[in-house]
Amino acid sequence: MSSGTVDRIFRSTGFRLTAWYVGVFVLSFAAVALVAEYFIARAVEVREQTIVSARLEEYRAEFEARGLPGLTRAVAVRSSADERELVVLTESGKAIYESRPDASDAASDADWRVGMTSLSGDMTLRVGRSKADERELIERVRDGSLMALAAALLLGIVGGAILTRRALRPVQQLTGVTQTILSSGKLDARVPTRGSGDDLDELATLFNSMLERNEALVTGMRQALDNVAHDLRTPLTRLRAGAELALDGPQDASAMRDALADSVEETDRVLSMLRTLMDISAAETGAMRLERATVNLGDIARDVLDTYEVVAEERAVRLVSSIEPVNVTGDASRLRQLVANLLDNAVKYTSAGGLVEVRTHAASGQAELQVRDTGIGIDDADLPHIFDRLYRGDRSRSQPGLGLGLSFVKAICEAHGGTVRVESSPSQGATFTLRLPMA
Ligand code: ADP
Repeated sequence: MSSGTVDRIFRSTGFRLTAWYVGVFVLSFAAVALVAEYFIARAVEVREQTIVSARLEEYRAEFEARGLPGLTRAVAVRSSADERELVVLTESGKAIYESRPDASDAASDADWRVGMTSLSGDMTLRVGRSKADERELIERVRDGSLMALAAALLLGIVGGAILTRRALRPVQQLTGVTQTILSSGKLDARVPTRGSGDDLDELATLFNSMLERNEALVTGMRQALDNVAHDLRTPLTRLRAGAELALDGPQDASAMRDALADSVEETDRVLSMLRTLMDISAAETGAMRLERATVNLGDIARDVLDTYEVVAEERAVRLVSSIEPVNVTGDASRLRQLVANLLDNAVKYTSAGGLVEVRTHAASGQAELQVRDTGIGIDDADLPHIFDRLYRGDRSRSQPGLGLGLSFVKAICEAHGGTVRVESSPSQGATFTLRLPMA
């Protein structure tokens, strides 16, 4: 294994979590073992001390009743085969009885637990019990604890590694998906969710939603860019062809002027498209400067209706209105453009004899503007896309347009905190409803 790999393992969250888990597990276990050992040692000590006191009492009673022979007999009965016990009787500091040859020396040794009592005539009786057994027991307890600790360590490492691996699997999947997206550019990669509803699952779901949104945005941008490139090609090709034709043709001033006029027209078309695209972007990103003031949406609708009267008449489309005053806070000129776009579409996509109706009123605390027509309507397949930049329905290609009108409407409406909705079915006309917060 290279040092980089080892370093990565040491720095991984999985390793750290396992190390913490094992550390806490082993420390807790060691604490429990130490406490247990302490209480066992205490209990054994108390038991031994009780035995020493009982023996002392027994031998004292025996000595007082039957003298030294009585004591010797009692000790012989009790301690005959018991190396763990010693008895010493002293008179004025001089040993007059010892149960074993080294009893006097052993009685002052730290390896013996000794109890003593004074008898009449400056005599002292001492009884001792060896601590060897006690120590052996504690040692066995300690050995047992150490073995259990080793098992706990092993269990902690294996269990900790398994638990950490399981717990961190969603995070690893998240990392894997991110790496896939970064290395292959595959925007449709998603993290599998377990449906457990825990916080990591929620993170995976949120991450997927973010990926979905990014994918939609990137796809939309790519498409918009493709559309812009495509839509720019046509006027630019026309511009070039016009210029080429003028250069190849008769070089008189009027032909040149005509060619230049055509060029200006085409250039205007391109500029208008670019301007609208930039306006839409500015409105969508919040970079558009809106001259906000309290304006009457009814007045704006009436103004726009006036400008469309002639066009509607030319196309034999009847314009009707039902205008109620309703105030909104917004940029009057942008709102006028917005209403004009809706009305322009309505008149454009309605055949002779049809009707276009504009209404403004207050509805459930909001200002509502409705533009309804009895025109060609919108195909179901087109409905989800009509607000996309440069999108044009197939059936509307006979009419002039850039496919930017509705994107502009939506961007401006949303920049004003409003919403726009459409209801339509083919050949049944269309109704666009705009809702803005009231001033
Ligand atoms: P344009 O009108 O320049 O094509 P828009 O963005 O204004 O672009 O509209 C996008 C598409 O939505 C149109 O191409 C058309 O298919 C459809 N559309 C918009 N308004 C109407 C309407 N009032 N009636 C029928 N179709 C409409």
